Amino acid sequence: MQEKLTLMIPGPTPVPQTVLKALSQHPIGHRSTEFQELVKNTTNQLKWLHQTKNDVLTITGSGTAAMEAGIVNTLSHGEKVICGVNGKFGERWAKVSKAYGLNVELVQAEWGQPLNPNDFQEILEADHSKEIKAVIITHSETSTGVLNDLQTISQYVGQHNKAIMIADCVTSIGACNVPMDEWGIDVIASGSQKGYMMPPGLSFVAMSSRAWEAQKNSDLPKFYLDLNSYRKTAAKNSNPFTPAVNLYFALEASLKMMQEEGLKSIFARHEKHREAAQAGMKAIGLGIFSAEGCGSPAITAITSENIDAELIRTNVRKNFDILLAGGQDHLKGKIFRIGHLGFVNDRDILTAVAAIESTLGSMGLHKAEIGAGIAAATKILG
Ligand SMILES: *Cc1c(COP(=O)(O)O)cnc(C)c1O
Repeated sequence: MQEKLTLMIPGPTPVPQTVLKALSQHPIGHRSTEFQELVKNTTNQLKWLHQTKNDVLTITGSGTAAMEAGIVNTLSHGEKVICGVNGKFGERWAKVSKAYGLNVELVQAEWGQPLNPNDFQEILEADHSKEIKAVIITHSETSTGVLNDLQTISQYVGQHNKAIMIADCVTSIGACNVPMDEWGIDVIASGSQKGYMMPPGLSFVAMSSRAWEAQKNSDLPKFYLDLNSYRKTAAKNSNPFTPAVNLYFALEASLKMMQEEGLKSIFARHEKHREAAQAGMKAIGLGIFSAEGCGSPAITAITSENIDAELIRTNVRKNFDILLAGGQDHLKGKIFRIGHLGFVNDRDILTAVAAIESTLGSMGLHKAEIGAGIAAATKILG
């Protein structure tokens, strides 16, 4: 039943009716005063979400466009950058950096483990000639369900006093606390199809004054993603090109919903859902792929020793119309992932746990008593 399909993947995420309705209006002229009002409102809402006084610019494109914009607008050919890699997205930013001719040094951790902030501290402290121009990491590493310690790494970057901190916060913004100004993050990238409860198509780049300082000297090629043109037009509540007008309607509606719920409640809800998902899965004999204590509030990766994770996923979809995510690269068939970011409530978590339990049961692989997962999850959901 296609219309019943529930997305529990880490993007695209479910979209509320209010947002869908906003989306379905007739487009308006993107140079109209009406649209300028929309840009003004959404910009203020985005600053609220990022807990910042900095510019937050909206780009038509997916999250990768925002990250690429952050990189090409602040760096120059041959400059040294440190990329933190402990999963698929960390790898992507190293690839983008190399594609633009940057001199990339990797700081790696095993997939499933968090990046070690001390590794960054050591490299930054040893850099007396201040060659390092940026540190680039993924806050919530979606491929493994690991939340990296952005706050501490950002603090070390601040102490270096030359490098800027560029962060992929695509699955952390709108799911957990990312106070841009307080943590001193210079560039934050995110995308609409994740915590924003929107369809794909818009992405967002927040830039600090240090990032704009770096932007002045940046010589990497750019045109559509030249953030200077976005900044100039944003000052007039406009956009350099034809933006995805209808997605702006959706953005205003979704951010309004988020403001009504409040940041603290949003973060608490995601945290609770991570705990419930983890407890439910452990109770039925499955494992949590992310190391203890560093699970992402947006996504839980589950290991299933001796069971084909792809088979569980396929059966959950077939039996219950719930779409879970699989493992990427060497993790294919080894893990599956429950996306729980954005428009997700307690019922969604209980249903997912029940569906996975029931599926394991029907496969003859349930190692505990049927209902054990639900019981464990219920304890946390209350
Ligand atoms: C989804 C995602 C992205 C963006 O991917 P796009 O397909 O370009 O939107 C980037 N980083 C992380 C961690 C993500 O989960």
